[in-house]
Amino acid sequence: GSTIGILGGGQLGRMLAMAAARLGLRTHVYCPDPDSPAFDVAAARTVAAYTDETALTAFAAGCDAVTFEFENVPARTVEVLSARLPTRPGARSLAVCQDRLEEKRLCAALGIATADWLPVDDAEGARAAAATLARPAILKTRRLGYDGKGQACVDGPEAAEDAFAAIGGAVSVLEARVPFACEVSVIGVRAADGAFAAYDVTENEHEAGILRTSRVPARIGEETAAAARAIARRIADALGHVGVLGVEMFVLREGNCESLLVNEIAPRVHNTGHWTIEACPASQFEAHVRAVAGWPLPSTRRVADARMTNLIGADAEAWAELAAEPGAALHLYGKREARPGRKMGHVTRLGPTADPTRPLTVGEVDSA
Ligand code: ATP
Ligand code: MG
Ligand code: MG
Repeated sequence: GSTIGILGGGQLGRMLAMAAARLGLRTHVYCPDPDSPAFDVAAARTVAAYTDETALTAFAAGCDAVTFEFENVPARTVEVLSARLPTRPGARSLAVCQDRLEEKRLCAALGIATADWLPVDDAEGARAAAATLARPAILKTRRLGYDGKGQACVDGPEAAEDAFAAIGGAVSVLEARVPFACEVSVIGVRAADGAFAAYDVTENEHEAGILRTSRVPARIGEETAAAARAIARRIADALGHVGVLGVEMFVLREGNCESLLVNEIAPRVHNTGHWTIEACPASQFEAHVRAVAGWPLPSTRRVADARMTNLIGADAEAWAELAAEPGAALHLYGKREARPGRKMGHVTRLGPTADPTRPLTVGEVDSA
């Protein structure tokens, strides 16, 4: 059997390792934090810095392919690994998706709409950009932001310099705030030979910048859903991406007319795809493992409506109640400490319980 290396030890790595195990594949998790959730379920582990070339070389020697559960992998790390074994996704996917500006440039080059944006390199640039762009706007760091961290509201040029200081004076992108009707995401998977499949479009609600719930089906038109999946495919193709990717989008609605703006791209399995574990014969984690291992892609068919709710911080204290709820699929990540804002687990409810106003859908939702 082959061994898949996973860089990063969070819950995404943990769920990847669980999916790999089901397929008879071993995983070797590499992460600097010895308390990482993925270590509990991996067959082998390395606790070392991502820049430790000796440890990386030994890790690469024991794996047949390597993947990532987070996008902020140092470029040198990817270089060291990809000289030794297939790294999926590759350097281009990581480089583009760890930099908001590069994501926006890629979308622009592909003719895919985003919110209006301008690059910001310094405080003066922030002021100039805020004077040009419609307000209100949001200043976002180009790198390392997640769960709404590294973002500041900008209500005009006067507020821009303070906002720039608030995000730590990092190179960033100023982006127009979008009056979206809803947020959706597409979880797509691309194989090394270019084959592509996408799961049904997911509708997402955030609270304080953190994903709260994801539901399928999204309450959007069929044409919009098809367009969303097509956008994900074009992005995956342009990146030469191998593995799962998540593309977050805003849906604008005027009367009956819907349009899409891409928000950001995650070159990995994605929180908004957790519902695929219960609602699909093959989850996003299995789809990713298959693509990384060079197996045929699975069907991305969905067999039930679903609603996934994140358990954030103290939410997970209600685990016993959730465990007793019939039909609630409970996932706990085994994190040692429940800090505020930290994702501790999630719960997925299928069928009529997912949304009492919608009938249960059983049947095929074809891949794109
Ligand atoms: P993630 O955890 O998804 O990686 P992030 O920190 O990278 O989050 P974004 O996805 O850019 O940040 O923004 C977080 C949320 O803030 C969005 O899902 C959306 O709800 C809101 N938001 C971000 N940008 C905009 C915008 N231009 N207009 C309106 N709302 C926005
Ligand atoms: Mg992000
Ligand atoms: Mg996001």
